[in-house]
Amino acid sequence: YNTLRLILGDQLNRNHSWFSTTCDETLYVLMEVRTETDYTWHHIQKIAAFFCAMRGFANYLKESGHQVRYFRLSDADNLQDIPKNCGQLIKEHHIKKFEYLLPDEYRVDEILKNFCDEAGIETSFADTEHFYTHRSELAEFFKYKEKGYLMESFYRYMRKKHNILMKGDEPLTGQWNYDHDNRKKLPAGHKPVNPLVFDNDVSDIVDEILSHQIVTIGSVDKKHLIWPVNREQALELLAFFCNECLSLFGTFQDAMMPGEWSVYHSRLSFCLNTKMISPHEVIASAIKAWEGNKQGIAYNQLEGFVRQILGWREYMRGIYWLKMPEFETLNFLEHNRRLPAWYWTGETRMNCLRDAIKQSLQFAYAHHIQRLMVTGNFALLAGILPDDVDQWYLGIYIDAIHWVELTNTRGMSQFADGGLVGTKPYVSSANYINNMSHYCTTCYYDPKKRTGDKACPFNSLYWNFYDRHRAKLEFNPRIGMAYKTWDKMDAETKSGILLQADIYLENLEKI
Ligand code: FAD
Ligand code: SF4
Repeated sequence: YNTLRLILGDQLNRNHSWFSTTCDETLYVLMEVRTETDYTWHHIQKIAAFFCAMRGFANYLKESGHQVRYFRLSDADNLQDIPKNCGQLIKEHHIKKFEYLLPDEYRVDEILKNFCDEAGIETSFADTEHFYTHRSELAEFFKYKEKGYLMESFYRYMRKKHNILMKGDEPLTGQWNYDHDNRKKLPAGHKPVNPLVFDNDVSDIVDEILSHQIVTIGSVDKKHLIWPVNREQALELLAFFCNECLSLFGTFQDAMMPGEWSVYHSRLSFCLNTKMISPHEVIASAIKAWEGNKQGIAYNQLEGFVRQILGWREYMRGIYWLKMPEFETLNFLEHNRRLPAWYWTGETRMNCLRDAIKQSLQFAYAHHIQRLMVTGNFALLAGILPDDVDQWYLGIYIDAIHWVELTNTRGMSQFADGGLVGTKPYVSSANYINNMSHYCTTCYYDPKKRTGDKACPFNSLYWNFYDRHRAKLEFNPRIGMAYKTWDKMDAETKSGILLQADIYLENLEKI
């Protein structure tokens, strides 16, 4: 072979221009390696789904006439490391040129840059041809624009630039944001659509993972992996979302109900993050579904969905490349308490947390509001070390890849960036969770109580959070109200709440 081309596990884009012609002189390589399985504790479904999708992708390339070398975890000549395996192939086949696709992870980007520096042969890289934006586009957009990094400004720029839901320079309906119409609680007795799940047999992969004694989180039904592992399944899930979920996506975007693990969410994040499907085709399909069924799909549902992908997803990618590597060390609020052990088991009396954690262990999935306003909210209120919080989120979710996990966790959820991503900390008392979910009615704790027996921990921890961070947060214009309310409480009430919070913080493991 003349050229070696590396494809990473999250670069499974069949439509990439690399694959438009075949060449016997080009060898493609994909690999399952311990450096990737071991850099954090991953959910077992996440490793299984990645490896299964990678194996399928390698087979697809072979069937399309490409030359492919695939390293399985158990292959005797697998050196369990990306540069080492590449180096070995270069030597073995006297390869003259090494090419790779730009990684989305800073860590891997550094590894490949170093490898190229030392490879001693010609090297080059290409874009993954997946995202709407290139790595530094957000940085360029905000450079001369305004002080902060407001997602809404970036999103509007993206809508205009790509002419999505626009009429000339104006939004199609004259209105940019429909958040106000969305975010309703599920009515009692409402049964959300049954999620479409797949039935992939990954027994061989799971057995290999176990035989290598890789440390994993969560459970898997190895004969019936529910996640899509190829482009056909990804497209099926996309069609299911457009036909069955989009019409209520926005309305119930923030709603939570015990036992309902995906409500009307798309669960497309894994297919998107592995690049089996592109954000362009997801958005085009949603718009097409809306155009074909305007009676059944109101515009606010569509806009809410487009905003997540064209707005939030591209925005987080831009923030990542703008702020790495510093971003992963930020700890604005100086939180340092360790993550309670029950985050890894779900064994807590708090119904909302128990349900969100148990379903995460079972499905490797929780939807955005469970991540942000239940598990994330609690970790922030309790002052957990952001490194611990990151480790948990990076491992447990099927879609957890550093660029999108870190920015969401450390940025949006833990306010460790001091307000770069979110303009204020996403914290709430039990009131929000009670308004948006059906968790509280069957909880051991009482959402209305701030102190005393069975008082919901969210309530006292909420005020404790604001009280202890007064110096850093008081002058944030979006937070002022909280301090006004706090200051109006009499001294005895305040000290009772703070005492209750201390009791919970000292007994976090048993809460
Ligand atoms: P839907 O609700 O159906 O949304 C559609 C798509 O929009 C998603 O598939 C996703 O690609 C995109 N999207 C929505 N919100 C965001 C967001 N905030 N940032 C980036 N993309 C978004 N997302 C990940 O892909 N990987 C992660 O590791 C991850 N970690 C998170 C950690 C925390 C603490 C929080 C609060 C959010 C995290 N998110 C992460 C963002 C979001 O929660 C998930 O993308 C979403 O829940 C995936 O489920 P879905 O495909 O059903 O999404
Ligand atoms: Fe969660 Fe508190 Fe409601 Fe229980 S009462 S479900 S702990 S918010």
